[in-house]
Amino acid sequence: MKTNAKGEGVQRVAVFGATGSIGKSTLDLIALHPDRFRAEILTAHRQVDRMFRDCERFRPSCVVMTDPEAAQALRDRLSESPVGSGVTVIDGPAGLVEAAVSPEIDMIVAGIVGAAGLPSVLAAAQSGKRILLANKEALVMAGALMVSAATSAGSVVLPVDSEHNAIFQCLGEQYRCFSTPPGVRRLLLTASGGPFRAWDKERMFSATVGQAIAHPNWSMGRKISVDSATMMNKGLELIEAHWLFGLSESDIDIVVHPQSIVHSMVEFQDGSTLAQLGSPDMRTPIACAMSWPQRIHAPVKALDWTGHQRLDFEPPDPVRFPSLTLARESLRAGGANSAVLNAANEIAVQAFLDEQIRFGEIFGIVESTLSAMAPQAGRLPESVDALLAVDQEARAIASAHVAEMRR
Ligand code: NDP
Ligand code: MG
Repeated sequence: MKTNAKGEGVQRVAVFGATGSIGKSTLDLIALHPDRFRAEILTAHRQVDRMFRDCERFRPSCVVMTDPEAAQALRDRLSESPVGSGVTVIDGPAGLVEAAVSPEIDMIVAGIVGAAGLPSVLAAAQSGKRILLANKEALVMAGALMVSAATSAGSVVLPVDSEHNAIFQCLGEQYRCFSTPPGVRRLLLTASGGPFRAWDKERMFSATVGQAIAHPNWSMGRKISVDSATMMNKGLELIEAHWLFGLSESDIDIVVHPQSIVHSMVEFQDGSTLAQLGSPDMRTPIACAMSWPQRIHAPVKALDWTGHQRLDFEPPDPVRFPSLTLARESLRAGGANSAVLNAANEIAVQAFLDEQIRFGEIFGIVESTLSAMAPQAGRLPESVDALLAVDQEARAIASAHVAEMRR
């Protein structure tokens, strides 16, 4: 660890998915606290302009661009800039794994979207890194592998996803990643209900991409915004909570809370319920995880209690949002079923974003892929390669369903 002018440690951060929504919020915080954090490594897929600007601003020692053409374009831009010589540009997905285990970093912010984030998160866990986890898909796909890798290497996983970060805050010193906290009766994950909370099923079926990504409270990447609209995001988060906090699926409930002020709750055996509240801004949970166990300033709007603030709660509707049941069933079925759920969902969401299928068809693709894969998905894959083979097979089946729907 480096030290600042006061002799205090400066944490070297690897921001994975630096050009995305989580990445930008993380870099905002690093820029605000240069005496505490340094952006040592940045990664992205192919947004060259944005990454070039971030290189000028943060002067990382290493950048990974997974798209080789984007990596070359970035090298060319950097070679003409005064920043250039200090930055090593690595290309390809293997570069992510290399960066994740680098001895030059103290923590990783895992902000890549989807299954593409898994190999680097797993490598970081295997090498005992501190992981600030936003990439929920890694735990959904490979919860068991993640738990055993992190536990044996002593890697600490701190949740960044706002609901899980809220639970982490409610648990305080009792938080131990991947183990059941003492005295807890159940977890209550709050859900905004997304943009279609009050829409009827027929109207939802044909909703446009623009309508689906217009989240009422949060500003996020396109994939997670669609997941919020289908409520698959909450299904994935249920699986994420199961692994992070070691509770069974039946001890995790979902409650719709349209204002997104209460970020989640923990109910204890003595009848107490603790909640964490705040404005819907990811800089709060990211700042909390970055500075834990201390607190740092984040430029987040404080809640205003002088007006007529309402906090509403209602049960989710499993008929209009079958994702919740699909996620629960996949978790109960165990093995690689959650990985199949995730793979099918990624394919279906991308097909919807590409305007190949309708919004309401996402659910059917996930459901039929889970059914088709049930015979082989029951076993728990012992290695990441075996898991990725299941993931690929599920993607092929889901893609075939998409192709059928287009005909
Ligand atoms: P974005 O789409 O905004 O950003 C995704 C990032 O991942 C970008 O930097 C992108 O690079 C990079 N990326 C995309 N595809 C690949 C790939 N194949 N290989 C390597 N890198 C890739 O996503 P979000 O920031 O919204 O979400 C990131 C993760 O955090 C997701 O797992 C999401 O569920 C989770 N999360 C997000 C929240 C939010 O508020 N946004 C809240 C809670 C959790 P490029 O820009 O170059 O394409
Ligand atoms: Mg969340």
